[in-house]
Amino acid sequence: MCPHILPVLLPYPFKEPFYYQVPLELEYSSLIPGTIVIVPLSNREEIGVIWEKHALPKGITLPEEEPKKIKKIKSIISIIPIPSLPSILLQFIDWVAAYTLSPPGLVLAIALRGVQTYASTNAPKTGWVLSDLSTDKLRMTPAREKILQFLRGKESPFTTGFLVDALRVSSSVIQGLAKAGILEEKLLPYHSPFLEPDPSFHIPQLSEEQQEAADFLSTKVNNKEFSVTLLQGVTGSGKTEVYMQAIATCIEQGQQILILLPEIALSSQWVERFEKRFGVKPALWHSDLTNKQRKLTWQAVIKNEVSVLVGARSALFLPFTHLGLIIIDEEHETSFKQEEGITYHARDMAIVRARLSDCPAVLVSATPSLETLTNAYHHKYHHLTLTARHGGASMPDVQIVDLRATPPHRGLFLSPPLITATQQRLKKGEQVLFFLNRRGYAPLTLCRACGHRLECPHCSAWLVEHRSTQRLVCHHCEYFIPIPKECPHCNAPDSMVPIGPGIERITEEARATFPDAKILVMSSDNLTSPKATAEAIRQIDQKEVNLIIGTQIVAKGWHFPFLTLVGVIDADLGLSGADLRASEKTLQLLHQVGGRAGRAQSAGIVMLQSYLADHPVMETLVKGDFNEFMLQEAAERQMGFWPPYGRLAAIIVSADTNDEAMQIAYELGQNAPQMEGVIVLGPAPAPLALLRSRYRQRLLLRTQKHITIQPILHQWLSSVKAKKSVKIDVDIDPISFL
Ligand code: ADP
Ligand code: ZN
Repeated sequence: MCPHILPVLLPYPFKEPFYYQVPLELEYSSLIPGTIVIVPLSNREEIGVIWEKHALPKGITLPEEEPKKIKKIKSIISIIPIPSLPSILLQFIDWVAAYTLSPPGLVLAIALRGVQTYASTNAPKTGWVLSDLSTDKLRMTPAREKILQFLRGKESPFTTGFLVDALRVSSSVIQGLAKAGILEEKLLPYHSPFLEPDPSFHIPQLSEEQQEAADFLSTKVNNKEFSVTLLQGVTGSGKTEVYMQAIATCIEQGQQILILLPEIALSSQWVERFEKRFGVKPALWHSDLTNKQRKLTWQAVIKNEVSVLVGARSALFLPFTHLGLIIIDEEHETSFKQEEGITYHARDMAIVRARLSDCPAVLVSATPSLETLTNAYHHKYHHLTLTARHGGASMPDVQIVDLRATPPHRGLFLSPPLITATQQRLKKGEQVLFFLNRRGYAPLTLCRACGHRLECPHCSAWLVEHRSTQRLVCHHCEYFIPIPKECPHCNAPDSMVPIGPGIERITEEARATFPDAKILVMSSDNLTSPKATAEAIRQIDQKEVNLIIGTQIVAKGWHFPFLTLVGVIDADLGLSGADLRASEKTLQLLHQVGGRAGRAQSAGIVMLQSYLADHPVMETLVKGDFNEFMLQEAAERQMGFWPPYGRLAAIIVSADTNDEAMQIAYELGQNAPQMEGVIVLGPAPAPLALLRSRYRQRLLLRTQKHITIQPILHQWLSSVKAKKSVKIDVDIDPISFL
């Protein structure tokens, strides 16, 4: 009889599954696609998943596999006794791999992050109870007596570990009693570590506008079919309250809900709100989980014991079996784009996952991305709008501080109008926020004598002074040096000067200018854990601080009721540079930061320090007509087939020497696809031409929207043979152009 052969995908950079034979002792019919198995690979044993063929993104096909020679095929070793991966997840993995031009095995690896340790640690847990055997003939010792006394009358089992700790007996005593038949081994009862949220634990009174939006979303949830809705509401309008209502409906349906947040480490306030609304904490998924938490969560998700999970990007790859709703909060955030390894955009892939799962997706933002807004205007997405802040709070008054007219004192960065306004607010007992999206003390250090600038030897980047650690640091690699006393170039003593501000420098200036202020600094340098962030938020909530100085961390969806003034130190930062989305990103960021002001009773103001007072972004921030600006921006992109009206793929060639990188980039340029509607820009040195000692060249492929980009890339890239030391990375729908 011919043995059964099955494809098994392994979580490594393999382009396709390997074939394995089903040994007689394993039941072939139980090996459905998604079954997690152990197979031999070279001399190791590896976890793999029984695979199948899936429909791929429109227009993308994979090369036909060559027929395998049975002779070489090895056997599956065993089946891991956990539920098999749901077929939608398998489909999703193949889809993401095909779309991003990544090996499916690597995408599978993301999905198996909760299983990797499974095999070794999954022995079912047992404990001890007393048997019916009489203890009369037993030789008693004090330790034995202790154990018997403790277990007498107890029905549920206790583990060896517990007994050893609690009774201070050695495990050999327990073994002895077991051998004598006095103790009996019993399976511990299984409790899911996740409690069921109560949809009616605390239902808020919604405003009419909020209720309407909530009802719409609930209908979508009840319909159980794919749809995308943009929930756009001004900052503080209660978007979160509204979508919590949709979550409640979904819980009632017994379905699972996935919420993606851009930075889960900053989610303490969100989790707290969830707990107030539903009585329990949601399950979490992010990179700070311990292996044990990861494993427990993964299993609970696949067994449908978790109904609400909030997570970072990779939560998309969890094995949900009853997904009923996906919410992407702050959908415009570029941190949803994974930039390393598999470059995927979690927002876009979330929509794919919702489509495969036949469930609604909700995109939430005060400042939606151009892509999303365009889809809403073209009626591809439903569009809900919340126009008013909750509880009658008004939108902050946005003012430009024209630095040409009212500059700060020489060498300083706070303008007189901002200083005056800050003093007034602090005096009234209110809180003030200074925002500057730059870590450290100064972004550039140069020699006053010879003009020499201190640069990273491994990256095309200036070294950033961090005064708190007395170092000059590269923000792209790990490189740092002590702050030099003399110029390394001309040896002039004491000639190195810091140029420009980072938040450490603003903090120094603020301490001198507002000596009585209680200052809190918020940046990724000092908020290194979710706990540290939660503590900072608590200090703000309890009014223990009144002047907050922060980087983009403070722009997130925080709700600080006592904060009434936001001062943006350098509103022009981010407008320079060749980034396609420079204006859009700056507008979103500043609008979000400004949105922290005046969210409760007292009206807020936002002061934007700028040398570009007439820039359209500044005018839009003052007028507050975000959508109008975006539509204008869209119109400009339409002509050149830039996204969202065209497709982009970036190709980054990197190598240890500039010559190697240039040579392959040049060859790619020579072989560029020649087709109607397809344009290749470059090659050209990347803005970060040197990164971690690798030389980088970029090309950009731009096509009209109806053209599927992946087959073109496949063909193009296979036309060039590069040495192993030269890396060619493809970034579909690039967000970063560095
Ligand atoms: P957004 O996400 O739109 O910025 P939030 O959902 O954070 O707004 O709401 C702002 C604040 O108003 C939060 O503290 C929230 O709890 C409160 N809030 C919003 N709507 C209501 C409501 N209907 N009842 C009670 N509190 C509400
Ligand atoms: Zn560097």
